[in-house]
Amino acid sequence: MESTEDFRKYGYQLIDHIVDYFKTIDNQAVKSKEAPSALKDQLPLTAPEKAESMDDIIYDFNQIIKPGITHWQHPNFHAYFPANNSFPSILGELLTAAYGVQGMIWETSPAAAELEEVVLNWLRQAMNLPSDWSGVIQDTASTASLVALLTAREKASNFAINKKGFKNQTYRVYASDQAHSSIEKAVKIAGIGSENLVKIPVDDQFSIQINILVDHIQSDLKMGYQPLMIVGALGTTGTVAIDDMNALGKLASQYNLWFHVDAAYAGSALLLPEFRAQIMGLELADSFVFNPHKWMFTNFDLSAYYVKDKNALINTFSILPPYLNTSSYGQVNDYRDWGVQLGRRFRALKLWFVLRSFGLERIRDKMREHIRLAEWFENQVINSERFELLTPRQLNVVVFRAVGRVDTNGFNALLMNKVNQSGEIYLSHTQLNDKYALRMVIGNTRVEMKHVKKAWEVLMHMENEIEKAYSK
Ligand SMILES: *Cc1c(COP(=O)(O)O)cnc(C)c1O
Repeated sequence: MESTEDFRKYGYQLIDHIVDYFKTIDNQAVKSKEAPSALKDQLPLTAPEKAESMDDIIYDFNQIIKPGITHWQHPNFHAYFPANNSFPSILGELLTAAYGVQGMIWETSPAAAELEEVVLNWLRQAMNLPSDWSGVIQDTASTASLVALLTAREKASNFAINKKGFKNQTYRVYASDQAHSSIEKAVKIAGIGSENLVKIPVDDQFSIQINILVDHIQSDLKMGYQPLMIVGALGTTGTVAIDDMNALGKLASQYNLWFHVDAAYAGSALLLPEFRAQIMGLELADSFVFNPHKWMFTNFDLSAYYVKDKNALINTFSILPPYLNTSSYGQVNDYRDWGVQLGRRFRALKLWFVLRSFGLERIRDKMREHIRLAEWFENQVINSERFELLTPRQLNVVVFRAVGRVDTNGFNALLMNKVNQSGEIYLSHTQLNDKYALRMVIGNTRVEMKHVKKAWEVLMHMENEIEKAYSK
Protein backbone atom coordinates (compact mmCIF):
# COMPACT_ATOMS: atom_id res chain seq x y z
CA MET A 1 0.00 0.00 0.00
CA GLU A 2 2.83 2.37 -0.79
CA SER A 3 1.97 3.04 -4.42
CA THR A 4 0.04 6.07 -5.50
CA GLU A 5 -2.38 3.87 -7.47
CA ASP A 6 -3.20 1.82 -4.38
CA PHE A 7 -3.85 5.03 -2.54
CA ARG A 8 -6.19 6.16 -5.31
CA LYS A 9 -8.07 2.86 -5.20
CA TYR A 10 -8.55 2.74 -1.44
CA GLY A 11 -9.06 6.47 -1.25
CA TYR A 12 -12.06 6.21 -3.58
CA GLN A 13 -13.25 3.15 -1.68
CA LEU A 14 -13.16 4.97 1.63
CA ILE A 15 -14.88 8.05 0.23
CA ASP A 16 -17.64 5.67 -0.92
CA HIS A 17 -17.64 4.14 2.55
CA ILE A 18 -18.06 7.60 4.11
CA VAL A 19 -20.89 8.51 1.73
CA ASP A 20 -22.71 5.26 2.52
CA TYR A 21 -22.11 5.80 6.21
CA PHE A 22 -23.82 9.16 6.15
CA LYS A 23 -26.63 7.86 3.93
CA THR A 24 -27.47 5.10 6.41
CA ILE A 25 -26.39 6.71 9.67
CA ASP A 26 -30.01 6.95 10.87
CA ASN A 27 -30.09 3.14 11.10
CA GLN A 28 -27.12 2.88 13.44
CA ALA A 29 -27.52 2.65 17.21
CA VAL A 30 -26.37 6.07 18.33
CA LYS A 31 -24.46 4.86 21.37
CA SER A 32 -22.15 1.89 21.02
CA LYS A 33 -23.50 -1.22 22.74
CA GLU A 34 -20.11 -2.83 23.20
CA ALA A 35 -19.12 -4.26 26.56
CA PRO A 36 -15.84 -3.18 28.17
CA SER A 37 -12.83 -4.99 26.63
CA ALA A 38 -14.87 -6.32 23.69
CA LEU A 39 -12.56 -4.62 21.23
CA LYS A 40 -9.33 -5.32 23.09
CA ASP A 41 -10.15 -9.02 23.24
CA GLN A 42 -10.31 -9.19 19.45
CA LEU A 43 -6.96 -7.62 18.73
CA PRO A 44 -3.45 -9.04 19.02
CA LEU A 45 -1.28 -7.88 21.90
CA THR A 46 1.61 -6.87 19.67
CA ALA A 47 1.88 -4.88 16.46
CA PRO A 48 2.15 -6.89 13.24
CA GLU A 49 5.71 -7.57 12.10
CA LYS A 50 4.66 -8.07 8.48
CA ALA A 51 2.66 -5.75 6.26
CA GLU A 52 -1.04 -6.49 6.11
CA SER A 53 -3.35 -5.76 3.22
CA MET A 54 -5.57 -2.71 3.17
CA ASP A 55 -8.50 -5.00 2.35
CA ASP A 56 -7.93 -6.83 5.64
CA ILE A 57 -7.53 -3.62 7.59
CA ILE A 58 -10.75 -2.14 6.21
CA TYR A 59 -12.55 -5.43 6.79
CA ASP A 60 -11.48 -5.41 10.44
CA PHE A 61 -12.46 -1.78 10.77
CA ASN A 62 -15.99 -2.77 9.82
CA GLN A 63 -16.03 -5.93 11.95
CA ILE A 64 -14.12 -4.98 15.07
CA ILE A 65 -13.76 -1.23 15.32
CA LYS A 66 -17.09 0.04 14.09
CA PRO A 67 -19.23 -1.71 16.73
CA GLY A 68 -17.29 0.20 19.38
CA ILE A 69 -17.96 3.57 17.76
CA THR A 70 -20.51 5.92 19.25
CA HIS A 71 -21.98 7.87 16.40
CA TRP A 72 -21.37 11.49 17.24
CA GLN A 73 -22.56 12.53 13.78
CA HIS A 74 -25.91 10.72 14.18
CA PRO A 75 -28.78 13.22 14.00
CA ASN A 76 -30.17 11.70 17.21
CA PHE A 77 -26.97 12.34 19.12
CA HIS A 78 -28.25 14.82 21.72
CA ALA A 79 -25.69 14.17 24.48
CA TYR A 80 -22.96 16.42 25.90
CA PHE A 81 -22.34 19.07 23.30
CA PRO A 82 -22.06 18.12 19.64
CA ALA A 83 -18.70 17.76 17.92
CA ASN A 84 -20.32 18.19 14.58
CA ASN A 85 -18.55 17.88 11.26
CA SER A 86 -19.54 18.48 7.65
CA PHE A 87 -18.42 17.40 4.21
CA PRO A 88 -16.36 20.56 3.54
CA SER A 89 -14.65 20.11 6.88
CA ILE A 90 -13.81 16.47 6.15
CA LEU A 91 -12.36 17.47 2.78
CA GLY A 92 -10.25 20.18 4.39
CA GLU A 93 -9.00 17.67 6.97
CA LEU A 94 -8.08 15.27 4.19
CA LEU A 95 -5.82 17.88 2.62
CA THR A 96 -4.32 18.72 6.01
CA ALA A 97 -3.38 15.08 6.46
CA ALA A 98 -2.10 14.73 2.90
CA TYR A 99 0.09 17.82 2.84
CA GLY A 100 1.17 16.99 6.36
CA VAL A 101 2.77 20.33 7.11
CA GLN A 102 4.15 21.18 10.50
CA GLY A 103 3.15 24.77 11.09
CA MET A 104 5.27 25.65 14.09
CA ILE A 105 6.47 28.90 12.53
CA TRP A 106 5.68 30.91 9.41
CA GLU A 107 8.86 29.70 7.74
CA THR A 108 7.87 26.03 8.02
CA SER A 109 4.76 26.68 5.93
CA PRO A 110 3.73 30.26 5.20
CA ALA A 111 0.21 29.30 4.11
CA ALA A 112 -0.55 27.63 7.45
CA ALA A 113 0.38 30.73 9.42
CA GLU A 114 -1.26 33.24 7.12
CA LEU A 115 -4.49 31.32 6.57
CA GLU A 116 -4.85 30.95 10.33
CA GLU A 117 -4.56 34.72 10.73
CA VAL A 118 -7.06 35.33 7.91
CA VAL A 119 -9.78 32.92 9.04
CA LEU A 120 -9.58 34.03 12.66
CA ASN A 121 -9.94 37.62 11.52
CA TRP A 122 -12.97 36.59 9.45
CA LEU A 123 -14.55 34.97 12.49
CA ARG A 124 -13.72 37.90 14.73
CA GLN A 125 -15.50 40.28 12.38
CA ALA A 126 -18.44 37.95 11.81
CA MET A 127 -18.98 37.74 15.57
CA ASN A 128 -18.52 41.46 16.07
CA LEU A 129 -15.61 41.01 18.46
CA PRO A 130 -13.23 43.93 19.07
CA SER A 131 -10.90 44.68 16.16
CA ASP A 132 -7.83 44.86 18.42
CA TRP A 133 -8.14 41.21 19.45
CA SER A 134 -5.66 38.77 17.95
CA GLY A 135 -6.70 35.21 17.20
CA VAL A 136 -4.88 31.90 17.27
CA ILE A 137 -6.12 28.34 16.88
CA GLN A 138 -5.66 26.08 19.90
CA ASP A 139 -6.44 22.39 19.94
CA THR A 140 -9.19 22.67 22.57
CA ALA A 141 -10.85 25.16 24.88
CA SER A 142 -9.07 23.47 27.79
CA THR A 143 -5.73 24.44 26.30
CA ALA A 144 -6.95 27.95 25.48
CA SER A 145 -8.06 28.54 29.07
CA LEU A 146 -4.70 27.26 30.33
CA VAL A 147 -2.94 29.61 27.92
CA ALA A 148 -5.08 32.50 29.21
CA LEU A 149 -4.26 31.68 32.82
CA LEU A 150 -0.53 31.33 32.21
CA THR A 151 -0.51 34.65 30.36
CA ALA A 152 -2.42 36.31 33.22
CA ARG A 153 0.02 34.83 35.72
CA GLU A 154 3.06 36.06 33.80
CA LYS A 155 1.64 39.50 33.22
CA ALA A 156 0.81 39.85 36.91
CA SER A 157 4.26 38.67 38.03
CA ASN A 158 6.03 40.78 35.41
CA PHE A 159 7.12 37.56 33.70
CA ALA A 160 9.06 36.50 36.77
CA ILE A 161 7.43 33.14 37.47
CA ASN A 162 8.48 31.86 34.06
CA LYS A 163 12.08 32.62 35.04
CA LYS A 164 12.36 32.08 38.77
CA GLY A 165 9.34 30.01 39.66
CA PHE A 166 6.87 31.01 42.36
CA LYS A 167 8.18 33.13 45.24
CA ASN A 168 5.42 34.01 47.64
CA GLN A 169 2.56 34.64 45.28
CA THR A 170 -0.77 33.16 46.23
CA TYR A 171 -2.98 33.96 43.30
CA ARG A 172 -6.73 33.59 43.32
CA VAL A 173 -8.92 32.71 40.33
CA TYR A 174 -12.67 33.29 40.39
CA ALA A 175 -15.33 31.45 38.43
CA SER A 176 -18.88 30.35 39.10
CA ASP A 177 -19.50 26.93 40.59
CA GLN A 178 -20.91 26.01 37.16
CA ALA A 179 -17.60 26.70 35.38
CA HIS A 180 -16.17 23.90 33.27
CA SER A 181 -13.74 21.44 34.86
CA SER A 182 -11.05 22.63 32.44
CA ILE A 183 -10.74 25.80 34.53
CA GLU A 184 -9.86 23.80 37.61
CA LYS A 185 -7.45 21.73 35.56
CA ALA A 186 -5.75 24.90 34.29
CA VAL A 187 -5.45 26.25 37.82
CA LYS A 188 -3.72 23.03 38.86
CA ILE A 189 -1.36 22.92 35.89
CA ALA A 190 -0.45 26.62 36.20
CA GLY A 191 0.85 25.98 39.72
CA ILE A 192 -1.80 28.15 41.31
CA GLY A 193 -3.38 25.31 43.24
CA SER A 194 -6.97 24.13 42.98
CA GLU A 195 -7.72 25.50 46.46
CA ASN A 196 -7.11 28.95 45.03
CA LEU A 197 -9.91 28.54 42.53
CA VAL A 198 -12.77 30.33 44.26
CA LYS A 199 -16.07 28.87 43.09
CA ILE A 200 -18.74 31.52 43.38
CA PRO A 201 -22.37 30.46 43.87
CA VAL A 202 -24.89 31.10 41.11
CA ASP A 203 -28.34 32.63 41.02
CA ASP A 204 -31.53 30.85 39.98
CA GLN A 205 -30.48 31.23 36.32
CA PHE A 206 -27.17 29.48 37.14
CA SER A 207 -25.21 32.68 36.45
CA ILE A 208 -22.47 33.90 38.77
CA GLN A 209 -23.61 36.10 41.67
CA ILE A 210 -21.69 39.32 41.25
CA ASN A 211 -22.15 40.63 44.80
CA ILE A 212 -20.75 37.43 46.28
CA LEU A 213 -17.82 37.62 43.88
CA VAL A 214 -17.07 41.18 45.03
CA ASP A 215 -17.15 40.07 48.66
CA HIS A 216 -14.67 37.28 47.93
CA ILE A 217 -12.26 39.55 46.07
CA GLN A 218 -12.32 42.08 48.91
CA SER A 219 -11.85 39.56 51.67
CA ASP A 220 -9.06 37.82 49.70
CA LEU A 221 -7.27 41.16 49.41
CA LYS A 222 -7.59 41.69 53.15
CA MET A 223 -6.15 38.26 53.80
CA GLY A 224 -3.13 38.91 51.60
CA TYR A 225 -4.08 36.85 48.57
CA GLN A 226 -3.45 38.19 45.06
CA PRO A 227 -6.61 38.13 42.95
CA LEU A 228 -5.50 37.23 39.42
CA MET A 229 -8.30 36.28 37.09
CA ILE A 230 -12.05 36.15 36.66
CA VAL A 231 -13.44 33.50 34.33
CA GLY A 232 -16.83 34.34 32.90
CA ALA A 233 -18.99 31.62 31.38
CA LEU A 234 -20.73 32.44 28.13
CA GLY A 235 -22.77 29.26 28.17
CA THR A 236 -22.04 26.79 30.96
CA THR A 237 -21.80 23.12 30.14
CA GLY A 238 -24.71 22.13 32.36
CA THR A 239 -27.40 24.58 31.28
CA VAL A 240 -25.76 27.11 28.89
CA ALA A 241 -26.07 29.78 31.59
CA ILE A 242 -24.52 33.11 30.72
CA ASP A 243 -22.67 35.27 33.24
CA ASP A 244 -23.02 39.05 33.24
CA MET A 245 -20.05 39.96 31.05
CA ASN A 246 -20.47 43.67 31.62
CA ALA A 247 -20.39 43.37 35.41
CA LEU A 248 -17.48 40.91 35.35
CA GLY A 249 -15.50 43.06 32.93
CA LYS A 250 -15.95 46.18 35.03
CA LEU A 251 -15.01 44.34 38.17
CA ALA A 252 -11.90 42.94 36.51
CA SER A 253 -10.74 46.37 35.43
CA GLN A 254 -11.55 47.87 38.83
CA TYR A 255 -9.32 45.32 40.58
CA ASN A 256 -6.84 44.97 37.71
CA LEU A 257 -7.64 41.31 37.07
CA TRP A 258 -7.45 39.33 33.84
CA PHE A 259 -10.93 38.66 32.47
CA HIS A 260 -11.19 35.41 30.51
CA VAL A 261 -14.40 34.37 28.80
CA ASP A 262 -15.10 30.66 28.29
CA ALA A 263 -17.61 30.53 25.45
CA ALA A 264 -16.60 27.04 24.32
CA TYR A 265 -20.07 26.02 23.25
CA ALA A 266 -22.33 29.06 22.96
CA GLY A 267 -19.66 31.26 21.38
CA SER A 268 -20.73 30.06 17.93
CA ALA A 269 -24.09 31.74 18.49
CA LEU A 270 -22.36 35.14 18.48
CA LEU A 271 -22.55 34.75 14.71
CA LEU A 272 -26.27 35.45 15.13
CA PRO A 273 -26.86 39.20 15.47
CA GLU A 274 -29.97 38.57 17.60
CA PHE A 275 -27.85 36.65 20.12
CA ARG A 276 -24.82 38.93 19.84
CA ALA A 277 -27.01 41.91 20.78
CA GLN A 278 -27.86 40.27 24.12
CA ILE A 279 -24.23 39.95 25.20
CA MET A 280 -23.08 43.25 26.67
CA GLY A 281 -19.54 43.89 27.83
CA LEU A 282 -17.77 41.17 25.88
CA GLU A 283 -15.30 43.79 24.64
CA LEU A 284 -14.05 44.10 28.23
CA ALA A 285 -12.54 40.61 28.07
CA ASP A 286 -8.79 40.08 27.99
CA SER A 287 -9.21 36.70 26.36
CA PHE A 288 -12.00 34.68 24.83
CA VAL A 289 -12.33 31.13 23.56
CA PHE A 290 -14.97 29.28 21.58
CA ASN A 291 -15.01 25.96 19.78
CA PRO A 292 -15.89 25.82 16.09
CA HIS A 293 -15.44 22.08 16.71
CA LYS A 294 -18.62 22.00 18.77
CA TRP A 295 -21.39 23.82 16.97
CA MET A 296 -19.88 25.19 13.77
CA PHE A 297 -19.64 22.17 11.46
CA THR A 298 -15.86 21.99 11.75
CA ASN A 299 -14.61 18.60 12.79
CA PHE A 300 -12.74 18.16 16.08
CA ASP A 301 -10.33 19.67 16.95
CA LEU A 302 -10.31 23.42 16.45
CA SER A 303 -10.64 26.04 19.15
CA ALA A 304 -10.57 29.76 18.36
CA TYR A 305 -8.73 31.76 21.00
CA TYR A 306 -8.61 35.55 21.04
CA VAL A 307 -6.47 37.77 23.21
CA LYS A 308 -6.36 41.52 23.69
CA ASP A 309 -2.70 41.84 24.75
CA LYS A 310 -0.92 39.82 22.12
CA ASN A 311 2.49 40.80 23.46
CA ALA A 312 1.74 39.43 26.92
CA LEU A 313 0.77 36.15 25.27
CA ILE A 314 3.92 35.98 23.18
CA ASN A 315 6.18 37.01 26.06
CA THR A 316 4.71 34.18 28.08
CA PHE A 317 5.32 31.47 25.51
CA SER A 318 8.15 32.51 23.22
CA ILE A 319 11.29 30.47 23.16
CA LEU A 320 13.87 31.39 20.57
CA PRO A 321 16.44 28.68 19.99
CA PRO A 322 18.91 29.49 17.19
CA TYR A 323 17.36 27.09 14.66
CA LEU A 324 14.03 28.89 14.92
CA ASN A 325 15.45 32.41 14.66
CA THR A 326 14.53 33.01 11.04
CA SER A 327 14.66 36.08 8.86
CA SER A 328 10.87 36.47 8.93
CA TYR A 329 10.79 36.56 12.73
CA GLY A 330 8.56 39.40 13.90
CA GLN A 331 6.98 40.18 10.50
CA VAL A 332 4.54 37.32 10.43
CA ASN A 333 3.00 35.19 13.12
CA ASP A 334 5.05 32.31 14.45
CA TYR A 335 2.27 30.50 16.27
CA ARG A 336 4.54 28.23 18.29
CA ASP A 337 4.92 31.39 20.46
CA TRP A 338 1.15 31.64 20.97
CA GLY A 339 0.56 28.55 23.06
CA VAL A 340 1.90 25.38 24.60
CA GLN A 341 2.86 23.22 21.64
CA LEU A 342 5.73 23.71 19.24
CA GLY A 343 4.43 21.50 16.45
CA ARG A 344 1.09 22.53 14.99
CA ARG A 345 -1.35 20.96 12.57
CA PHE A 346 -2.67 22.98 9.63
CA ARG A 347 -6.09 23.32 11.25
CA ALA A 348 -7.07 26.56 9.56
CA LEU A 349 -7.64 24.73 6.29
CA LYS A 350 -10.79 22.90 7.36
CA LEU A 351 -12.19 26.10 8.87
CA TRP A 352 -11.54 27.92 5.59
CA PHE A 353 -13.31 25.13 3.70
CA VAL A 354 -16.30 25.37 6.06
CA LEU A 355 -16.55 29.16 6.01
CA ARG A 356 -16.35 29.31 2.22
CA SER A 357 -18.44 26.29 1.39
CA PHE A 358 -21.32 27.16 3.73
CA GLY A 359 -20.90 30.92 3.80
CA LEU A 360 -21.84 32.69 7.01
CA GLU A 361 -25.46 32.88 5.88
CA ARG A 362 -25.91 29.12 5.67
CA ILE A 363 -24.11 28.59 8.98
CA ARG A 364 -26.48 31.06 10.63
CA ASP A 365 -29.49 29.40 8.98
CA LYS A 366 -28.52 26.00 10.31
CA MET A 367 -27.94 27.31 13.83
CA ARG A 368 -31.29 29.10 13.80
CA GLU A 369 -32.94 25.89 12.63
CA HIS A 370 -31.40 24.05 15.59
CA ILE A 371 -32.74 26.71 17.92
CA ARG A 372 -36.21 26.39 16.37
CA LEU A 373 -36.14 22.61 16.85
CA ALA A 374 -35.14 23.08 20.49
CA GLU A 375 -38.01 25.52 20.89
CA TRP A 376 -40.40 22.85 19.62
CA PHE A 377 -38.97 20.30 22.04
CA GLU A 378 -39.19 22.79 24.89
CA ASN A 379 -42.88 23.28 24.13
CA GLN A 380 -43.52 19.54 24.25
CA VAL A 381 -41.95 19.45 27.70
CA ILE A 382 -43.90 22.47 28.88
CA ASN A 383 -47.20 21.04 27.63
CA SER A 384 -46.59 17.58 29.01
CA GLU A 385 -47.87 16.55 32.42
CA ARG A 386 -45.17 13.95 32.77
CA PHE A 387 -42.15 16.16 32.13
CA GLU A 388 -41.00 19.55 33.34
CA LEU A 389 -38.50 22.16 32.26
CA LEU A 390 -35.74 22.80 34.82
CA THR A 391 -34.30 25.98 33.34
CA PRO A 392 -35.54 28.19 30.53
CA ARG A 393 -34.20 26.92 27.18
CA GLN A 394 -31.00 28.61 26.13
CA LEU A 395 -30.25 28.44 22.36
CA ASN A 396 -30.58 24.79 21.31
CA VAL A 397 -30.31 23.15 24.73
CA VAL A 398 -33.31 22.01 26.79
CA VAL A 399 -32.80 20.93 30.41
CA PHE A 400 -35.73 18.92 31.75
CA ARG A 401 -36.84 15.83 33.67
CA ALA A 402 -39.71 13.44 34.21
CA VAL A 403 -41.89 14.45 37.16
CA GLY A 404 -44.14 13.10 39.86
CA ARG A 405 -42.26 10.02 41.06
CA VAL A 406 -41.40 8.92 44.56
CA ASP A 407 -37.71 8.85 43.70
CA THR A 408 -37.56 11.43 40.95
CA ASN A 409 -33.76 11.36 40.62
CA GLY A 410 -33.64 7.56 40.44
CA PHE A 411 -36.49 7.53 37.95
CA ASN A 412 -34.75 9.99 35.65
CA ALA A 413 -31.41 8.18 35.87
CA LEU A 414 -33.17 4.97 34.91
CA LEU A 415 -35.01 6.74 32.10
CA MET A 416 -31.79 8.09 30.67
CA ASN A 417 -30.04 4.74 30.82
CA LYS A 418 -32.95 2.96 29.14
CA VAL A 419 -33.19 5.57 26.43
CA ASN A 420 -29.46 5.43 25.74
CA GLN A 421 -29.36 1.62 25.77
CA SER A 422 -32.11 1.56 23.17
CA GLY A 423 -29.67 3.06 20.69
CA GLU A 424 -32.48 5.20 19.30
CA ILE A 425 -31.24 8.45 20.77
CA TYR A 426 -28.43 9.51 23.06
CA LEU A 427 -28.84 12.03 25.90
CA SER A 428 -26.66 13.04 28.81
CA HIS A 429 -27.47 14.54 32.18
CA THR A 430 -26.35 17.14 34.65
CA GLN A 431 -26.92 17.76 38.33
CA LEU A 432 -28.79 20.95 39.21
CA ASN A 433 -28.64 21.50 42.95
CA ASP A 434 -30.14 18.22 44.12
CA LYS A 435 -31.95 17.46 40.87
CA TYR A 436 -30.94 14.91 38.28
CA ALA A 437 -31.54 16.75 35.01
CA LEU A 438 -31.68 15.48 31.44
CA ARG A 439 -30.09 17.58 28.69
CA MET A 440 -31.41 17.58 25.14
CA VAL A 441 -28.94 19.25 22.77
CA ILE A 442 -30.01 19.71 19.16
CA GLY A 443 -26.89 20.66 17.26
CA ASN A 444 -26.06 17.92 14.83
CA THR A 445 -25.27 18.96 11.26
CA ARG A 446 -27.99 16.67 9.87
CA VAL A 447 -30.69 16.90 12.52
CA GLU A 448 -34.22 17.57 11.27
CA MET A 449 -37.67 17.85 12.80
CA LYS A 450 -38.30 14.13 12.29
CA HIS A 451 -35.34 13.30 14.54
CA VAL A 452 -36.47 15.62 17.30
CA LYS A 453 -39.99 14.19 17.09
CA LYS A 454 -38.53 10.72 17.35
CA ALA A 455 -36.51 11.72 20.40
CA TRP A 456 -39.63 13.01 22.11
CA GLU A 457 -41.56 9.84 21.23
CA VAL A 458 -38.79 7.60 22.56
CA LEU A 459 -38.70 9.56 25.80
CA MET A 460 -42.48 9.39 26.28
CA HIS A 461 -42.54 5.68 25.45
CA MET A 462 -39.71 4.79 27.84
CA GLU A 463 -41.15 6.94 30.57
CA ASN A 464 -44.40 5.04 30.23
CA GLU A 465 -42.64 1.65 30.29
CA ILE A 466 -40.71 2.47 33.45
CA GLU A 467 -43.84 3.84 35.05
CA LYS A 468 -45.66 0.55 34.34
CA ALA A 469 -42.78 -1.47 35.80
CA TYR A 470 -42.72 0.75 38.90
CA SER A 471 -46.42 0.42 39.60
CA LYS A 472 -46.41 -3.40 39.36
C1 LIG B 1 -16.82 21.75 26.12
C2 LIG B 1 -16.43 22.84 27.05
C3 LIG B 1 -15.09 23.03 27.41
C4 LIG B 1 -14.00 22.09 27.02
O1 LIG B 1 -13.79 22.07 25.65
P1 LIG B 1 -12.58 21.27 25.03
O2 LIG B 1 -12.39 21.93 23.70
O3 LIG B 1 -13.00 19.86 24.93
O4 LIG B 1 -11.40 21.44 25.92
C5 LIG B 1 -14.79 24.12 28.20
N1 LIG B 1 -15.75 24.97 28.63
C6 LIG B 1 -17.04 24.80 28.32
C7 LIG B 1 -18.05 25.77 28.82
C8 LIG B 1 -17.42 23.72 27.52
O5 LIG B 1 -18.71 23.56 27.22
